[in-house]
Amino acid sequence: FEEANVIRKQFRIRVAGSDVPAPLKTFDELGSKYGLSKRLQQNVAELGFSEPTPIQRQAVPALLAGRELFAIAPTGSGKTLAFLLPIVAWLRHQATHGEGQEGLKAVVLSPTRELAAQSARCLLLIVKGLKLRCSLLSRATAEGTDFFKVDILLANPLRLAGLVSSKQINLSSVRYLVMDEADKLFDMNFVEQIDCIIAACTHPHVVRALFSATLPQGVEELARSVLKDPLRVTVGERNT
Ligand code: ADP
Ligand code: MG
Repeated sequence: FEEANVIRKQFRIRVAGSDVPAPLKTFDELGSKYGLSKRLQQNVAELGFSEPTPIQRQAVPALLAGRELFAIAPTGSGKTLAFLLPIVAWLRHQATHGEGQEGLKAVVLSPTRELAAQSARCLLLIVKGLKLRCSLLSRATAEGTDFFKVDILLANPLRLAGLVSSKQINLSSVRYLVMDEADKLFDMNFVEQIDCIIAACTHPHVVRALFSATLPQGVEELARSVLKDPLRVTVGERNT
């Protein structure tokens, strides 16, 4: 307990919320403490990172514990892995424990195609050999994909909300919904689409998280009215 605070202080991780899970000390803890599969640990090791970044230290255990989350950390601080790693770990765990195999399990919303493609590149590295089905939503994949057979979908809110409205995609089995670059998502007036997507993620245990470099107060208030007992993790300078 004390140790957790020492690590937070050392890495300038600030947390607000109840029952905050302990931060990661090392990537090795993913195996020893959280029981991640050997293959996933190996994929992470092959990324060549010696230690988790501060946001990864706190956001990974939070999402593994199923906590809803605001994660605020500067650009370039490793937020992508901070949300993809727990999603992939959870998917692997539930695949080997055999409950509810079918249906889309995770959605990552990005404001632009390029940002979604960047996240997809990171995702492809960590799912190597894990038999998870990943899809990057585009005009082409929107036509030819059976989304019921996809595990993780990376998408732009506009395109995804369109498919939800036309009932071409069902989000009721989604367990992780990440809004990446949340400040831009809201700046770019995707509020209506995001509302539609959040409303369609009806699973009672859905875990929703906003990742951003900055989080305007208005956006946080809006999200707070929806999220259940969210944690707020901030790294770096105090946010506006
Ligand atoms: P953000 O989304 O916070 O802007 P990214 O997730 O795009 O940051 O990561 C920025 C860079 O940091 C990427 O090149 C990524 O590969 C690298 N990176 C991620 N995690 C680590 C780590 N633990 N140690 C070193 N570099 C990392
Ligand atoms: Mg990012």
